[in-house]
Amino acid sequence: MSFEVRYTDLAARIGLLNTPHGILETPAFIPVVHPVRQAISPQYLKKLGFRAVITNAYITLRHHGNEAKKKGIHNIINYDGIVMTDSGGYQLLEYGSLNVEPAEIAQFEKDIKSDICIPLDEPTGYKLEYEKAKERVEQTLKNAKETLALISEHSTTKDITDDAIWVGPIQGGEHLDLITYSANALDKIGFELFALGSPVELMEAYEFSMLGQMIVAAKRAIPTKPIHLFGAGHPLTIPFAIALGCDMFDSASYMLYAKDNRYIHTNGTSRLEEISYLPCPCPICSSYTVKELLGMDRDNRVTEIAKHNLYILKAEVCAVKQAVMDGRLWEYIMQKARSHPKLMEAMAIFKNFELIEEGTPLFKEKAIFLYDPVDQYRPEVKRFRRMVSEFRPRGKKKLILYPEPRVHPFYSTKDYFQIVKKIPDAQICAYNPFLGVIPVEISDIFPSSHNLFKPMAWHSAKEYVAFSESLNTFLSTNPFEEIIIVADHFMRQVVDHEDDNSAVKKLNPKIIDYRQDIIFRL
Ligand SMILES: [Zn+2]
Repeated sequence: MSFEVRYTDLAARIGLLNTPHGILETPAFIPVVHPVRQAISPQYLKKLGFRAVITNAYITLRHHGNEAKKKGIHNIINYDGIVMTDSGGYQLLEYGSLNVEPAEIAQFEKDIKSDICIPLDEPTGYKLEYEKAKERVEQTLKNAKETLALISEHSTTKDITDDAIWVGPIQGGEHLDLITYSANALDKIGFELFALGSPVELMEAYEFSMLGQMIVAAKRAIPTKPIHLFGAGHPLTIPFAIALGCDMFDSASYMLYAKDNRYIHTNGTSRLEEISYLPCPCPICSSYTVKELLGMDRDNRVTEIAKHNLYILKAEVCAVKQAVMDGRLWEYIMQKARSHPKLMEAMAIFKNFELIEEGTPLFKEKAIFLYDPVDQYRPEVKRFRRMVSEFRPRGKKKLILYPEPRVHPFYSTKDYFQIVKKIPDAQICAYNPFLGVIPVEISDIFPSSHNLFKPMAWHSAKEYVAFSESLNTFLSTNPFEEIIIVADHFMRQVVDHEDDNSAVKKLNPKIIDYRQDIIFRL
């Protein structure tokens, strides 16, 4: 299997996955297609730009049997793009048991020439007690191992690109250690593409925090491997999961929501009966009013809403990809987070997930935007503060700290020239709530001269814990004897909040109130 990563931002990646039916650009949303009844044809999905669809091998086996083996799944569903097949594990979750063996379904998926195949898994679902969840994880691992052994034994193709990709199904539910165990074991068995199952209940309940923790547990075990998230078809879940490192998603949400008159929009879903306008430029919303949609017969209405829902899901994935290319995925995710308090709460995960920093480019062409306390944890800013903690001024005993001017880098400002002229032997640093202390020597390194932030007076210092840490570390690790702090409203609060044992208080700095004419006040 080949998976080539082209661009990254946070833990998101734009990649190319090679399959027997062509290259799938990821992140990709893969619509669920029923192998027998199709209200929306797979050809229409292709026209909309969906390069892959997923269908159910178990239902195909029951309805089409040998005919599917003869014709192949692509002909059965009339789709010449990439076809992924689910094994029926989800039906197992719904009906309790399936009348099929893992080897039988695996052989069938191979025979119908599916491009991306999932072995028979036993989804843990959500809120299953630990021991039972563990049993299902073990059973899924056993099935997966047998499946892979069977497939490699009978594999006749020499060219690896002709071979279907087999997916390692990670289970464990909210038991994070089971997820780690499951992912590591599947990796060891030899899987190269993984799928995290099946937190649909979590997503429906907007439990983004738990979903995020599950993704993080899986990603930490298999950080470089491509990972699919089962059942993700919501416009808030998709960007969140992509930012945490998921590469593929499948869902029937577009259709399930439509059957329930649920209209997807960029920040959630609404019932058609509860809205007055269709805030979407897709062909369906451009052709009808809410009233006209509600007046249609049910089948037509479901199809039209489902089509609209697909437009939105496609646009969502494209918007996230463009944000990756622009280096603005953090800004994008934070905008999304304002759509729902539970998503905002889940943003705590982004503070300490190391893969977020690894995936964020060292340099970006565009300035980053900083608004709120959560932005003190964005990877570019954390990286800069770490650089400052290792910065050592050469032989300077005096320190001058003053609020960062709007002009970047600040050594090109008149204020800076005048300070240097007046106190040539001082170490001069600016500061802002996000980056902390900015020594002039590194003030043109990204992102210190490539950021825009809300006026400092708008920020409450006690929410900027990282600023205080950065300041105290800088003062305690460098041998300054004389410190002058030109304090604006923000810095005043910082100094007032420090306790007597802090480096700031111990060094007893001279504090002058900031005004425009700082030079005359030093
Ligand atoms: Zn629309």
